[in-house]
Amino acid sequence: MWKVPSYEKSYSQPSMELVVLDKEGSRIHCFIRSVHYRLFEPILEEGKMFVLANFTMDSNTQKYRPTKHSMRIIFKRDTLVSSADDIAISIESFDFVATKEILSSVRDDLFLIGMLFDVLIVPPTSSLLDANKANEFIIVLQFAKMKFYNGVMTITNTNYTTRLMVNANLEVVKKFCQKLIGLGTKHSTTIDVIGWVVRYSPSEDFVSLTPYALIYQIKQTVEKSTYVTCGTVIDIDRDHAWWYKACRQCTQGLEALTDQFYCAKCDVYSTIFVARFCIQVRVVDESDTATFVLFENSASKFLGLTAADIRTSMLAKGYGRDHFPEQLNALVGKTLLFKLTRHDSLNKFQACVITVSRICSDPEIIASLALEKNIQLHSLTCWFHHPLPSTKTASVSELGTDHVVTQTPVKRLCIRSDDDISYRASLSASKSLLPAFEKCIPGNATDPVAEDM
Ligand SMILES: [Zn+2]
Repeated sequence: MWKVPSYEKSYSQPSMELVVLDKEGSRIHCFIRSVHYRLFEPILEEGKMFVLANFTMDSNTQKYRPTKHSMRIIFKRDTLVSSADDIAISIESFDFVATKEILSSVRDDLFLIGMLFDVLIVPPTSSLLDANKANEFIIVLQFAKMKFYNGVMTITNTNYTTRLMVNANLEVVKKFCQKLIGLGTKHSTTIDVIGWVVRYSPSEDFVSLTPYALIYQIKQTVEKSTYVTCGTVIDIDRDHAWWYKACRQCTQGLEALTDQFYCAKCDVYSTIFVARFCIQVRVVDESDTATFVLFENSASKFLGLTAADIRTSMLAKGYGRDHFPEQLNALVGKTLLFKLTRHDSLNKFQACVITVSRICSDPEIIASLALEKNIQLHSLTCWFHHPLPSTKTASVSELGTDHVVTQTPVKRLCIRSDDDISYRASLSASKSLLPAFEKCIPGNATDPVAEDM
């Protein structure tokens, strides 16, 4: 049982969610709207039995579902809840997911998961995994979230739901301990590590480790996935803001309330924000074009300036908030390698969102990838110097006869018309959607392993 504060309206009651268990051991998720909070909060108590009648059902299709049941229960104003202390139901019910299953998952947004695992805490003075000096803890993690982070599957908590129990007095923990004792010391020999993020050198990351894909292949991908691509920046989208107001702690986009800002991730209200980049660049390669979103880490490393630096100098010069800073033009015309992640669309105006986690401008690394993947660097530069070729024949002659041009010139003509319907969104709508991009950011400023150049 947990409460979810209603952050849009700070005066409103929280909503409540429950996972309930019946006598057969089946679990279902229940939802109590904030308007009904006062009716049910005083009655319901965790670990107690209740008989429930007169409720509505809804399909259980939201992201991060706490049960695998196909439906969920919605409480109504006149839902009947009566205490039933005389019925005995075992309240211990876990459905644990194995580490191997987590590591092999391709989707991260389906269910909240439970895990049962064994942790050895070794005193800092002794060598790693010195079993004699280690303190062993059995940890039960309930309703945790699987999340792709920097291209690896990790486990994170949710703000209101996740529960962490250490050496809990549960039957399942006792059984797990007995199993570990049975295994003796063998159990610590093979360890699967979740969320192991290693910082690779640019040449490892861009040339050998991350798969290379053309822009049209990235756009066709269905699953959220990470690639390296080589392309030329032909334009910066000036219709979208180049920076956003970020939370100082977590870099999440802030929601502007009347006199302060709200960070949904930290659940904190504040009057202070930090400016961070979210530059939308149009990138072309030999196959197609796409809009990439560059965030603070990758953009500031390339430009040698932070978004806050540029904002400060603009304010000092007396420019208005909609003035476009010249410094960003350093990106235009550059042929670069982008390590990027393709996400599902966050709104109905876009087919997908492509965010960049790392940029490489090292000519040697670009040349070695171009050699390996047969990328025509010369023709990529041509797209910038001869943008929008009017006919297929014209572009072939510009590029030389040895280069075969497929559908690219046709697509290039459509950039600002029906190719990308995001341009149809009104200016104000697009700007208000910007903080949502930050949900796709792979790292954050305080994380020492966040990907940079
Ligand atoms: Zn925050």
